[in-house]
Amino acid sequence: MTTTHKVMLLPGDGIGPEIMAEVKRVMTWIEGAYGVSFDVSEGLIGGCSYEEFGHPLTDETLARAKASDAIVMGCVGGPQWDGKTDYDKRPEAGLLRIRKELDLFANLRPAMCFDALADASSLKREYVAGLDILFVRELAGGVYFGEPRGIEDLPGGGRVGINTQRYTDAEIIRIARVAFEMARKRGNKVHSAEKANVMESGLLWREEVTKLHAAEYSDVQLEHILADNCAMQLVKNPKQFDVILTDNLFGDLLSDAAAMLTGSLGMLPSASLGSGGPGLYEPVHGSAPDIAGQGIANPIAAILSLAMALRYSLDMGDAADAVEAAVSKALDSARTGDIWAEGFERVGTTGMGDAILAALG
Ligand code: NAD
Repeated sequence: MTTTHKVMLLPGDGIGPEIMAEVKRVMTWIEGAYGVSFDVSEGLIGGCSYEEFGHPLTDETLARAKASDAIVMGCVGGPQWDGKTDYDKRPEAGLLRIRKELDLFANLRPAMCFDALADASSLKREYVAGLDILFVRELAGGVYFGEPRGIEDLPGGGRVGINTQRYTDAEIIRIARVAFEMARKRGNKVHSAEKANVMESGLLWREEVTKLHAAEYSDVQLEHILADNCAMQLVKNPKQFDVILTDNLFGDLLSDAAAMLTGSLGMLPSASLGSGGPGLYEPVHGSAPDIAGQGIANPIAAILSLAMALRYSLDMGDAADAVEAAVSKALDSARTGDIWAEGFERVGTTGMGDAILAALG
């Protein structure tokens, strides 16, 4: 009997629909090669959903997403919605809502440097060739969600902007567990990054990670590192890292910095996992409004996001390996503009998809 996987596709704004078209072609190839069937449901998220329904994510779309096995998203946002002061109507609010509703607390962001792209990094080849870091970023708590928050008038005049960094022991333990489990399947090393020197939430983070490590994961090498030092070490000697465990805010910044070590934003996938429900898979990059509609966006981050969905939500690790190998092979010949170098064929979004499909065979 053919296995059917329910996959929700949310192309989103800007280059989202262009890169998602290539994801669909790869899915069709997988159906043929692995004898599975994808029951695909498509929906709107972000600015396009706001234009159509007056909200960046409707309850109906959310319900379909919840009923799927995996959600593959493109990207949201664009300058036409930038001026919106109504935060719950902004494109990003759709993304925050789906993460919150699905309780996606673990954001996995690999920073891998394909050998073919080592020269595209801002660091020298010897520092980045073979780089393979996995960021495990807490996604459902911390300063992006903590209360109180807001902008208030001060009694004597002037205003104050308030956000609250807040973590419970349970939130820390569940994300640390993901990091230790991932490390066991990789290089067996976790760096836990916080600011225990100046923040109580950081101190609690360090204490809870230490306790969990001693109780259940003493076979994994654990190092605590201050988040600012982690930023420096990422630039100085990035290959010392295997898994980096960190909170929502520091993870946002550190993983973006690491992203640039790998050559291009257009190459980087991510996964957001909860406890049991569908995972959300999306490129790290945004909607790239500067190149949207031109057919030149790099679809690789989106295709590698599909590969992560295959591995973490659909139990198709073999297919994930095949897709990643095909991307690596395709890079030996074809390149989109963001990663193009002398000696390679310069292709557009579809051309990159063609090269990956050709490498898949
Ligand atoms: P961006 O990632 O969209 O673009 C940064 C630069 O990288 C641009 O020059 C762009 O052309 C290039 N780039 C990005 N993806 C590419 C790809 N696949 N192929 C080739 N080049 C690519 O970041 P930005 O310009 O800061 O943000 C644009 C919009 O995206 C904003 O509205 C922002 O809020 C939104 N955004 C969304 C997400 C998301 O959906 N998860 C993430 C970040 C930013």
